[in-house]
Amino acid sequence: AIVVLGSTNMDLVAYVVRAPLRGETVTGREFRTVPGGKGANQAVAAARAGGNVAMIGAVGSDAFGRHLRHTLEASGVDTDLLHTADGPSGTAHIVVDDEGGNAIVVVPGANGTVTALGPGDETLIATADTLLLQLELPLSVVVEGAAAARRHGVRTVLTPAPARALPPELLAATDLLVPNEHEATLLTGLTDPEAAAGALLAQVPEVVVTLGARGTLYANRDGARIHVPAPRVTAVDTTAAGDTFTGALAVALGEGRPVEQALRWASCAAALGVRREGASTSMPYRPEIDAEYAR
Ligand code: ADP
Repeated sequence: AIVVLGSTNMDLVAYVVRAPLRGETVTGREFRTVPGGKGANQAVAAARAGGNVAMIGAVGSDAFGRHLRHTLEASGVDTDLLHTADGPSGTAHIVVDDEGGNAIVVVPGANGTVTALGPGDETLIATADTLLLQLELPLSVVVEGAAAARRHGVRTVLTPAPARALPPELLAATDLLVPNEHEATLLTGLTDPEAAAGALLAQVPEVVVTLGARGTLYANRDGARIHVPAPRVTAVDTTAAGDTFTGALAVALGEGRPVEQALRWASCAAALGVRREGASTSMPYRPEIDAEYAR
């Protein structure tokens, strides 16, 4: 089973010709609410890919919280240990202009209340084969969750996003680090993905650097280097591509599939997702991933 310790957010997206200046009001063209948060996105991706998935975290006591919980459950994610915290859900306030540029305010809301593991959390983690972690919850709980997984021999997969310096105790409890190119550079100061992956192996045993339309690069301490190109698709919406990839990768690795096969299968899942509008809402289900993989 897969446990996700992570964030839930409602993305509130306004589409405008041009973003307002301070003190100014502009009229938008369109508004959308999109369930997200890296934790929830990875949970939905893994569940749709066929994983047995449970989510630890919190939603708020508002309507967004009910909607976020429902979105997870509708994809088959177990939310028994997803708390409802008094107060607002996590929200991302996004303004997208006609040139595709954006400005974003993230308010952690309920996510910010998840500072430590709660009763039952460690027991649940101990039943998993994989724990998925990102950096949208308070660092204290991410570190605690990784350490708990490590104690129980559970594989830990960390998406180091939003990018920030990582405490040594977190790296020490991470089995597989999955940065995108930008995060890999930020963590190492190296712009070449292969060099960055190599440098990260000093801190964790396995690394996958995601390279957008150029695919993924895997490296481990035994000297293996695997580059898997991304399937060629017309990208419509690349939001959460990395989360789709990571969720599917966890499922494939948890089933004991060889790394290269798992990378290819997860790349198919991510490619299917970017072909459609919507982030978590456009994530593919297992039969579609299998069909794409067989092509
Ligand atoms: P993030 O979404 O975290 O920034 P990336 O942009 O690297 O991460 O995308 C993650 C993965 O999603 C890539 O490694 C690739 O497999 C897939 N992907 C992303 N963009 C595309 C694309 N335009 N075409 C095909 N696959 C894509």
